[in-house]
Amino acid sequence: MNETVSVPHIVPLSEILPDEPLLMMGAGPVPIPQSVASANSIVINHLGETMNRVIAQVKEMGRYVFQTNSRYVLGVGGPGSAAMEMAVANLVHPGDKVLCICNGYFSRRLAEMVARVRGEATLLEVGANEGVSVEAVERALRSKRYDAITLVQGETSNTVCNRELAAIGHLAREHGALVIVDAVCTLSTMPLEMDNWQIDAVITGGQKGLSSIPGVSLLAFSERAWAKKIATRTDLPFHWVLDAGLADKFWNQKSYHYTAPVSGILALHEALRLICGETLPKRFERHLHCSEALQAGIEGMGLQLLVTREHRLNSVVGIVVPDSVPAPDVLAHMSRVHRVEISGAFGLNIVRIGQMGEQSREHHLFRTLHALGSSMKALGASLDLPAGMAELERSLSH
Ligand SMILES: *Cc1c(COP(=O)(O)O)cnc(C)c1O
Repeated sequence: MNETVSVPHIVPLSEILPDEPLLMMGAGPVPIPQSVASANSIVINHLGETMNRVIAQVKEMGRYVFQTNSRYVLGVGGPGSAAMEMAVANLVHPGDKVLCICNGYFSRRLAEMVARVRGEATLLEVGANEGVSVEAVERALRSKRYDAITLVQGETSNTVCNRELAAIGHLAREHGALVIVDAVCTLSTMPLEMDNWQIDAVITGGQKGLSSIPGVSLLAFSERAWAKKIATRTDLPFHWVLDAGLADKFWNQKSYHYTAPVSGILALHEALRLICGETLPKRFERHLHCSEALQAGIEGMGLQLLVTREHRLNSVVGIVVPDSVPAPDVLAHMSRVHRVEISGAFGLNIVRIGQMGEQSREHHLFRTLHALGSSMKALGASLDLPAGMAELERSLSH
């Protein structure tokens, strides 16, 4: 029998997408500037002089954003998770002992990646909604010898921040362990000094703090970690695509590994260029100012934040949803009525509002806070919307 597959009935994207783009204020992807969008529409040769100049600048800007002088700033065609896997797969060899600091969904993902490359992961579970303490890390490092530590700077899933990266970096160095930090949501939104804090790998994605597109990510290895774990490795890493030694051919030797995601790299170039133009100190200040104002507005309305100030991540804000109101209904109402998209959470009755890159703009805050408050009200929550809006205004004008 010879049956052919008939032409499918397909509607154009214009019938699928909303007629007015939604304001993306969730846990990523985030809105992108026009120059990033324009760059993303261009295709160029993935090898040759033009690409070489683009890559050289991406690396130079990457070094600024990571705050490192390392030669090993590399990109990867893939999500933030691909950059996580690339860091882990190259720095953790079979049998290596790794202390995986776990305070949420993404830090557990790092631990799972360690296990998948046959590393021996020991989980250091942190209390609910808390960042890890230096003392807990020190205790763990004293009790056993570890080859590496993994942790997140900002745990996007439950909006917890690990604030002690600098101290953990120094401790780990004293104990001979490499430090792998996932900064997917935080990079360029709050300080991270890779070299000064003695971090051996920093991971980021495109669609969060950097305000680029999803699917093209950046990471950096310290020269020390490169010499110790990559340059001298004798067994073959498990992943061909994620092999840092092969990726180095493209990123540092102007030759072919795989066809680089050229449009996404051009987009990333523009996103990084905007960060360099703004400068990191000003960018950190903008993020802090906006996030604190948003938090003040939320509390001013009578809603509660999930995490105490001491452990709170500013890049993504977690808001407790009153028991009488289902979080998915809040999201649906905000999206349908106000055209504002925010996020739920993995199993917690909270909603999350992102404060990453382009999300940290004053005009977005007013629209988002109003949409949140009026949607919750429409669903029966009792709160004081005008008081919250006034608090946002007051805090922003400080
Ligand atoms: C979003 C996120 C990731 C995963 O990024 P993807 O692009 O979805 O793979 C990893 N870690 C953290 C902290 C994140 O916020």
